[in-house]
Amino acid sequence: MKFHKHLSAIHVEHHKNTAELPTEKMPVPDKLYISMVQHIGAPCQPIVSVGDYVKVGQMIGNSDAFVSAPIHTGASGTVTAIENIMTSMGVYPVVTIETDKKQELFEGVVAPTITDKDSFLKAVRNSGLVGLGGAAFPTHVKYNPKNLDEVDTLVLNGAECEPYITSDYRTMLEDSDLLINGVKAIMQNLGIKRAVIGIENNKPEAIRKLKELTKDASQIEILELRSLYPQGAEKVLIYEATGRMVPPGKLPADVGTIVSNVASVVALEKYLETGMPLVSKKLTVDGNVVKTPKNLEVLIGTKIFEVMEYCGGYTATPAKILMGGPMMGRAIYDDEFSIIKNNNAILAFDREWSTQAKETACINCGRCMQACPLNLVPTALAKAYKKKNLEELKKLQVMICMECGSCTYVCPAKKPLSFTNKLAKLFVQEGGKK
Ligand code: SF4
Ligand code: SF4
Repeated sequence: MKFHKHLSAIHVEHHKNTAELPTEKMPVPDKLYISMVQHIGAPCQPIVSVGDYVKVGQMIGNSDAFVSAPIHTGASGTVTAIENIMTSMGVYPVVTIETDKKQELFEGVVAPTITDKDSFLKAVRNSGLVGLGGAAFPTHVKYNPKNLDEVDTLVLNGAECEPYITSDYRTMLEDSDLLINGVKAIMQNLGIKRAVIGIENNKPEAIRKLKELTKDASQIEILELRSLYPQGAEKVLIYEATGRMVPPGKLPADVGTIVSNVASVVALEKYLETGMPLVSKKLTVDGNVVKTPKNLEVLIGTKIFEVMEYCGGYTATPAKILMGGPMMGRAIYDDEFSIIKNNNAILAFDREWSTQAKETACINCGRCMQACPLNLVPTALAKAYKKKNLEELKKLQVMICMECGSCTYVCPAKKPLSFTNKLAKLFVQEGGKK
């Protein structure tokens, strides 16, 4: 039952062109290039050497740090190089594996024994899971807040509000049993009483299927969200699911919630049932220069250009390639980068689509302010950043901006408001260094 007002949200074109395309498994490529940095936190160090033979599911990178997640290979073959190269996250060690296509299974791939919360959290870490909805924060850390005993609601993000992306939708349809079993496992092992799976109402088939699967599980609610942007942003989703607002500088656990993406829960349940860690990723390949858009399951470490070739290649030279959606995804300049854990889409567009309209003077229409789900004042933030006014930026709470891009999207003057906030946040983080 809805008992609170909605936060501001905007209509964006959905472009869910691939929604009805079942996920295809892309064949094992000749080589995998697996980066040792695929998450927020400490980088992994390679634990294999050049010349080693590795098997499917074998750990190849790890770290002693708490905020980190191990990295595994999804193909068997020989390690041929370990070198620092440019990845989509920066210059980091990358393990190259020449695959032998035999897909020999690593002997250590066995379902973990879970007896209590600690063994569950250990399993979550060993699965290599990080938030697959975007931020790539190690999941075992997220599932173990200091006040876990005060967490009463698990919020599952099935909103998928970014245009073009349908990989979570396919996951909810194709792996619905894994999803519900995973939700139950998390609730049981972390002692959480209630779960809410939030899904935009433009995905009626996923809503129907999950409602059917949970009809006897009163502790799991399927919440139909409005098909508006950004319903999947963490703070917005928590508010929609519980009526609670995460205060600035606080975490979801501070308002009694833990949030997980539906794809993360499916990956975790797979590990709990089989011992196979996170080695592949479902993602949407689309955009107006992709010959045959698809939903694919791709091994982590596959080069983006190979993914594109599998989709028939480009119909014209791409001017913009995005890892993620057009609202919050990261533009990359090179399809030589490889797929990492939190990639949920690769989109490629031509020059016409990518060319930004010319910026004009602000007409004080206030639309940017109305669009902001967090009640920020983007015009005031832009002014404060222009003046490099650190105190004013802090007062205007620039640090809570989630860079959702809603303000930019609605601005008739084409002001890059969200990008300005990104720069302003860096400025504040660096203590106002000019
Ligand atoms: S980018 Fe920031 S300021 Fe703009 S609408 Fe989103 S949260 Fe608000
Ligand atoms: S939406 Fe654009 S034009 Fe309107 S007030 Fe905001 S910055 Fe100015």
